[in-house]
Formats: sequence, C-alpha cells, structure tokens
Amino acid sequence: MTAPSPSFPVGTILGYPRIGPARELKRAVEAYWAGSLELVELERIAADLRRSTRARLVALGLGTTDSSIPESFSFYDQVLDAAVAVGAFPARFARLRDDDGAIGLDAAFTAARGDGENAPLEMTKWFDTNYHYLVPEIGPETVFAVSATRFADQVAEARDEGYVTRPVIVGPVTLLALAKATDAAPAGFSPLQRLEDLLPVYVELLAALRNAGAEWVQLDEPALVSETLPDDARELADAAARAYAVLGAATDRPAILVAAPYAQLSPNAWAVLASAPVEAIAIDLTRGAVPAATPGLAGKTVVAGVIDGRNVWRGDLAGAWSRLDELRTLGAGAVAVATSTSLQHVPHDLAVETDLCPRLRSWLAFADQKVGQVAVLARGLREGAGSIAAALAEASGALDDRRGAPGVSDGRIRARQAALTTADFVRAEYAERRIAQDATLALPALPTTTIGSFPQTADIRQIRARHDRGDLTTAEYEDLLRLEITTVIGLQEELGLDVLVHGEPERNDMVQYFAENLGGFAVTRNGWVQSYGSRATRPSILWGDVSRPAPITVRWSRFAQDLTDRPVKGMLTGPVTILAWSFVRDDQPLAETADQVALALRDEIRDLEAAGIGIIQVDEPALRELLPLKRADHPAYLAWSVGSFRLATGGAASATQVHTHLCYSEFAVVIDAIAALDADVTSIEAARSRGDVIDDIADSGFTHGVGPGVYDIHSPRVPSVTEVQELIERATGQLPLRQVWINPDCGLKTRAYPETVASLRNLVEATRLARERI
Ligand code: GLN
Ligand code: ZN
Repeated sequence: MTAPSPSFPVGTILGYPRIGPARELKRAVEAYWAGSLELVELERIAADLRRSTRARLVALGLGTTDSSIPESFSFYDQVLDAAVAVGAFPARFARLRDDDGAIGLDAAFTAARGDGENAPLEMTKWFDTNYHYLVPEIGPETVFAVSATRFADQVAEARDEGYVTRPVIVGPVTLLALAKATDAAPAGFSPLQRLEDLLPVYVELLAALRNAGAEWVQLDEPALVSETLPDDARELADAAARAYAVLGAATDRPAILVAAPYAQLSPNAWAVLASAPVEAIAIDLTRGAVPAATPGLAGKTVVAGVIDGRNVWRGDLAGAWSRLDELRTLGAGAVAVATSTSLQHVPHDLAVETDLCPRLRSWLAFADQKVGQVAVLARGLREGAGSIAAALAEASGALDDRRGAPGVSDGRIRARQAALTTADFVRAEYAERRIAQDATLALPALPTTTIGSFPQTADIRQIRARHDRGDLTTAEYEDLLRLEITTVIGLQEELGLDVLVHGEPERNDMVQYFAENLGGFAVTRNGWVQSYGSRATRPSILWGDVSRPAPITVRWSRFAQDLTDRPVKGMLTGPVTILAWSFVRDDQPLAETADQVALALRDEIRDLEAAGIGIIQVDEPALRELLPLKRADHPAYLAWSVGSFRLATGGAASATQVHTHLCYSEFAVVIDAIAALDADVTSIEAARSRGDVIDDIADSGFTHGVGPGVYDIHSPRVPSVTEVQELIERATGQLPLRQVWINPDCGLKTRAYPETVASLRNLVEATRLARERI
C-alpha cells in the first residue's frame, strides 16, 4: 500500500441480513422473476434497502465514515456474487453474458435457478448453518476476469450518500474451496489448483474498490476454519499464505480484513494469517478460545467476534467483554469488537415481536439488538470499562433472570432425564423385531411407501392462512384437513401403495409444527432468516425444558388408519432435526436439549402405538447438517445425535416398525451413524446420484431395511416405469431382497398432484414388474 493504513473501526459487524425487515427483497425479486416488476424497479428497491440499512446501522451505533458499516447486500447469494465478480460462470450459461463478457443480474439469476433446459448451479449448505449457497463450477478451462462492478458500485453509491462503507466479499481461498470441478475437468482436478490464476483478478477487484472510495475491504475466508471440505486444512492454510502474500503486496488496494468465522482457526491457519501482509483479522470467539500470541500481530488489528452472529440470545455481555480484555494481551496492534459471523443468520429486529412474552423477549437479541451490543462493547474499548458498566450489569441481570425463570428448568423433566439408563436407548435385537413385525404387518416383498407429505396445494395453504386469520374456525379447518386426509388415503389405495401416509396437511413445516405443540418453544411473527435465494424460514426459539402437554399427531394418524386396512405410518420429526432448524438455548449442551425432545417424542410414539399405529417414521433429514466443522468434534456429536434418536424410539415395541428418513445421499459419510440409529427401515435420497448410494449401502454391510429413493422429487419430471425398474433391479441385485423398500427420495409437499400421481403410478407398476421376476 502506498498510503498508511487507516485504522480499523473499534466496533463492527461482519454482515447484516439482506432480505429486508419486511422481506422486501424476497417480494421484489420474486415479482421480478414473475414478470410483474421491472428491472429498474427491482434495482431501486434494492438500493432503498441498502440505504435504509446504512442509516439503521448508524442509528444503532456504527460509524458513518469509519468503514464500520459492512456493504453486504446480495440479491441472491454471496458466493454467487463472488463467482460472478471474477467471471467464474458455467459454460452452459455463457450465452447470457453481455457483449463485453460482463455477467448481468439476469444471467446470475438464471445460473441460480436454471432455465428449464440447463440445470442451475448446485446448492449446498454454508458451513454448519442453515444457509445454502450456490456451488461455483471451476475447471482448468475457466477464464477468470473481473466481470462485475457491483461491489464497487455499492461502495460508490454509499459514498454519494456520505458514507464510507466496507465491502464484504468471499475471499479467493474460500471461493475455490467451495467450488466444484466442472464436468470438463480431468479426474484429480481441484479448483484450488487455479488459485494463482484467480489472484490477479482479486487484485484488480481490490483496485476497483479502492477507486470507488473503499478504505477497508472484508474478505471472508471461513474455509480456513473448516475440516470438512475436500481440500485438507493444511492445503487451505498454504493457499491462504500464497493468496494473501499476493493480495497484500498489491499497491492499489484498500486495507484488508480477513474474516475467519464459524469456528476456531487451527493454530497453523492462525499463524499464517497473523504473519500475512494484511491489516486486520477477524476471528470467531464464540466457538473457540483466544488464540496464542504470535509475533506477526504487532501491526494488525484483531477483530474479536464475541457477539454470536448465529443465535438469538442476548447472552453474556460481561463475558464477551472479558474475552476482549483477554485478547488485549495478545500483542496485536489493536483490538476491535465484532459479531462472530455475519448477522445474515438471525432475524432483523426483535422490537416487532410484540406477541412474544416480554420476559422471554428480554433474554433475546436479533440482528439490530446485536449491533447495539457491539456498539456497547466498542464504547467500552474506547472509553474504558467504567463507561459500559451499567449496560453490562443490565445484560447480566437478564441472564440471571433467564437462569431462574420457570420453564427454563423443569424439575420433573430433569428428574426423568437423570433417571435414564442405557436400557432406555436399546430396543430388542433386530432379528427378534423383524420376526414380530413380519407377523403383524404381513407386507409383500419390495414394500412400496412414500416419505410422508403429499402435495401442499394452494388450497391447503389457503385454508391454513384463513384459519390463522380467524376466517375459519378450528372446527371448520380440521374438517377440511380430514377431508384432505381422506382423499390422500383413497388415492394411495387406488394407486396400490403398501404402506400409506396421512399426507401431513396439518403441518406448515415439519419442525415448526412440533415447536408449536411442544412446551419450551416460542414462535415468532416475523423472525425470518434467509435460507437460500429468495427463500426464508422462520425458526422457532427453543428457550426452555421441552415437554409435551398433549399428544400431537395421534388423532390425525388414527383418523387416517381408521380409513383403511393397510398400515398407515405415523410421522414424527426427530430431535436432531428439530434442534437444527430452531434457535436453540445456549445455556446447556445440545445433547441435553436433544434428549428432552427425544423424551417428548418417546411419549408420542407410545401414544401412537396405543392408537393402533404399527409403523412410525422419525425423520432426521438434518442428521448430516449439524455435523461439526471440526473432526475432533464428530464422535461426540454422533454419540448424542444418534443417542437422542434411540431414546425417542427406544420404547417402541418389537412389533412396531420404526422408520427414519434422511434427506441426502452422502450415505458413506455417516453410514456408521445410520446403522447406529437402529431404525428398522431407513429411506434416503438416491435418485439423483443414479443409484451410487445403493453401492455404498451394499459395501457398508448395512443389514436393516432400506429404501434408496427411486425417483427425484425435487423436479416435476415423471420417471418412466423402466427407469424405476432399473433402480429397483440395481438395488435387488446388490442387496438381499428382504432389505429393499421402494419409495420416492423425499416428501411430496412441494410437488403438484398430476406429476405426483403419474410418478407414483409408475413406481407401483415398476415394483409389480420387479415382483414378478422374483
Ligand atoms: N416427512 C417429511 C415429508 O415427507 C420429510 C421431509 C424431509 O425429509 N425434509 O415432507
Ligand atoms: Zn427428505
């Protein structure tokens, strides 16, 4: 750098939600896609959002011109934005580039969503969060070139309004580490091999940002904390050393903050960043200890992520302050305070949640409140501990109040947990269960079933909305649900499926429905969090000990079972998934909370059995999702997650057939865990990986029932009878016949009826033909 580096702001956040406090961006983007909003209008709404975000952040205590405001807006996804900015765009969409090669907003949207003929970029989970990013495709043939100026434009837009903001961009190492090789790439190619070609483009990008008025840039490098990426940690740290040597040496650039959120940096990666020629490093101190002192830090700012960017708790502000204090002994040039991650993982503002109980509210902090917390700690850093003593005491008071509040700790639930023994986690031997189940269920070979939900039609969504608004009484609403269940059962009988489902019409969402019916949870009105693109979810808040005031699913399952002679599966969501898709209390280990959910489900299973339900499915699609980023944490995670499933199902009679459903195809990764669940039947996604999963199952020696999905429900495409037959044959060719179940690869709720009926008809026909051959 030519000029001396500007000092880093004392307090900042690593990113802010971009969906808008009233989901303005979602509405605008979807209206644009639907053709009812012009591009200029969309751009105007987005600019308005960015403008109000900046003003809001200043009002909450960040500085106008000190680069403390992150410029972290995205129309769809930050990884897509970075890929677009460097020109990493799939060849199949190349025709959508402008004449000068630039990749405009429409082209980017098409890459994100597909165009009917060409598949979109794959989507996958962003580290261990519920956010999903688009996977860039990079091969030896990818030509990197700066092809978007959006980042610079936004800095300039802010500057015109009198702000100096800090653009936030996914860094080069993480961009490559998250990318997958293009189809054209030879075997053994890894996108990280293209680092040296990519860096000059980042150098150019930095110059453009500097030119637009940026004094600081934030390069996000969460790949450096992960141990679950294909490239190993050492390779990534080496790549970071090379990358930041080059970017740091650039002469025309803003000062660089490298952010490493989501977990603790390994000592190696920490040493690499500490000695790199960058000006600031942000580390996540909510998920890791204060790192060791290291010489390279003297001239740098360490940005301490002490305010949790991923949960909604007001938390321990005094504790955060003492971590900051501890950090001051590291020998860094300066210490600043920040959120641990971007705030994109939490809802905008708690203030609008006027329906929440005020006491619970006083324990919570959404994005805006967390910005306020950062501002408090920043004041402490500037003016001394005395200046924030009152604020710290107030936060500690709220924490004390939470600790002692009724419901946070329920003596009866605690006593029940304390009395658990190993026997509670173990069912009878599988062989014995199998005999009991064969006798009571009498299913044909290759039993057919579905994963639980039937299409959630516009009609169903509408009656739910009318009931929520009070336009339908509960009695009227429930009559309509019973009508729907009756139709769905009739349809399945007509199709000739063997194990039926009630279709889940009463559920808005497979987690929220249970959260609404269990004690210890609260639901928000407007607590939306971006899940991917224009999609947002509204996680429930698990704040207290979990109880089940009354049976939840029993009357629906019993109603469905009374309509038919065929078995109807009871349908529950498992403890890990309920935790994964909620904001979970941070005052006790997840393992304990999971066991509480498990006990509630255990009671539900007992009641389902008593109501005559002989098959019960406990869905755990999130089992893989919560897998920690650090390998050392895997055994403990798998122990408690599997344990909670076994606690939930451990009381089921031998004759009760327990099913589970897992929503992904990386069977090999967690095969031991899947086997340890000890479910009688496991259905998994397999259709998209063309049956490779079947090989993995066969290789693994898995002995229980298994339903590798025979068609992909994520698209409206109807599989042909032959296609399904091929997959069935592949399964029966490699697995003992008695093990194989035939089912779609996930629930049908996002599908429409015409393709659902056609697909299931072909599934049943293919099964009939397969049975004829045995
Ligand atoms: N039973 C749920 C359904 O069918 C499972 C959904 C899921 O796996 N995500 O919708
Ligand atoms: Zn699924």
